[in-house]
Amino acid sequence: MFRKWVNRLNHIAIIGGGITGLAAAHYAKEAGAHVTLFDAQDRLGGKIKTIYQDGFTLETGPDGYMARKATLTSLITDLGLGDRLVRSKTGTSYIYVRNQLRQMPAGSVMGIPTKFWPMVKTDLFTWKGKFRAGFDLVIPRVYEGEDISLDRFFRTRLGSEVVDSMIEPLLSGIYNGTLDDMSIESTFPQFITIEQKTRSLILGMKALTPPVQAGVKPSDTGKFLSIDQGLGGLVEALRPSIDRLELKTVVQSVRPHEVTLANGKVERFDGIIIATSPNALGSLLHIPEAERLSKLKRTSSMTVLAAFDESEVDALDGTGYVIAKSEGNALTACSWMHKKWPHMAPQGKALLRMYIGSEYVPPLLHEDDVSVATFALDELRRIQKVGKPLFTKVERHIQTMPQYEVGHKQDVKAFEEALAKWDGVEACGAILHGVGLPDCVDSAKKAVAKLNLEQLVTV
Ligand SMILES: Cc1cc2nc3c(=O)[nH]c(=O)nc-3n(C[C@H](O)[C@H](O)[C@H](O)COP(=O)(O)OP(=O)(O)OC[C@H]3O[C@@H](n4cnc5c(N)ncnc54)[C@H](O)[C@@H]3O)c2cc1C
Repeated sequence: MFRKWVNRLNHIAIIGGGITGLAAAHYAKEAGAHVTLFDAQDRLGGKIKTIYQDGFTLETGPDGYMARKATLTSLITDLGLGDRLVRSKTGTSYIYVRNQLRQMPAGSVMGIPTKFWPMVKTDLFTWKGKFRAGFDLVIPRVYEGEDISLDRFFRTRLGSEVVDSMIEPLLSGIYNGTLDDMSIESTFPQFITIEQKTRSLILGMKALTPPVQAGVKPSDTGKFLSIDQGLGGLVEALRPSIDRLELKTVVQSVRPHEVTLANGKVERFDGIIIATSPNALGSLLHIPEAERLSKLKRTSSMTVLAAFDESEVDALDGTGYVIAKSEGNALTACSWMHKKWPHMAPQGKALLRMYIGSEYVPPLLHEDDVSVATFALDELRRIQKVGKPLFTKVERHIQTMPQYEVGHKQDVKAFEEALAKWDGVEACGAILHGVGLPDCVDSAKKAVAKLNLEQLVTV
């Protein structure tokens, strides 16, 4: 009887305690496993880091997730945090281009204009640019079954002005990359589907935009969700899924059923889930397919949070802005967090979050936090007026953001086929099928399902 029970209680090792590893721990625990989690850092959360200071909730990594991707919402609800979900506020979004903050034309969805009059009236593009965007209605399909860059796809369909002034600053911000590197198949395959279906992106996106429902205020339709204590609350809620937590523990390599730690200790498990940051895959597995993924381009960024008395910030009505590359500003975006997420700042205070773009990061690498914050604020003041901050916080994300370049899907397929030959080892996380938090949770759920816990050989 006891023997049977032990066989069913598979002992699983999870490597990496970011959202992917934590979600894997939750699903493995739910399936009856005994979970050991290793993380190199001295804390859980990986890129998720929430700091509480003077009544502010400071997110130095992700601040929310796309509401339409349901897996994470289900997980949060399962954890009993459903009533703590908060939706981002909406408002006008701006783009800083040609030395001015300009409103995004109403009806633009992910940078694609879908309404005629706002497009006619906007000062974001010249008449020539607007006319060129209209070609989208008549030109043939651009995607012909082979992966191409987002840059080529959008530039052909909508012309350079719409790409440089609206699409590039919006979409490249999500991956912290550049459109000419980014694979359409791996980043935004929905645009391929739309083009296949309606040929025109403008008409396709228009058809997808839900009609405004009577009684629903625009401010209630924010596209992002978080929880009211910040994403750090999610990390804490996932912690009890771990039976044995080994922080400050670097895993050096993985073999079927075997984990070798950096201190030389070897531990055996029934199943192993790798949920590390992308750069660790190659050195852990030593197979060419994993090494190839680890060597793929990754970009860096720095986030700078600055808290103010609200009277010290000259913010327009809205939630923030992105900045076109042509402006030569080191910042790629600035979110007015107190407007996007009112729970993040006390009454009468303002919280701004600035993102320093990848190419401006190397010269700042050896600067201290005060110098980085001063640099970011100087760049910000080229765009909007702000006074003296109450405090600032800097977070460095160095070489951590995986870039899904053209051909990425094939690299992932080759890696997954190679790993399938390893008994009881699965991998998941932002390098594979999407960088967003819900994508990471999805991949963790699939990895646990693939381990097929009850049938694992007990070692
Ligand atoms: C600035 C920024 C803002 C973002 N904003 C958003 C957002 O608003 N919404 C959204 O959906 N997504 C956002 N993302 C993307 C998202 O945060 C990440 O894709 C996601 O958090 C990755 O989670 P992960 O668990 O896969 O990896 P990580 O969070 O990187 O965790 C991996 C963990 O593995 C550990 N590890 C690595 N190697 C080893 C080893 N050898 N041994 C032991 N442990 C190891 C690391 O210490 C780390 O804790 C943002 C990303 C960044 C950088």
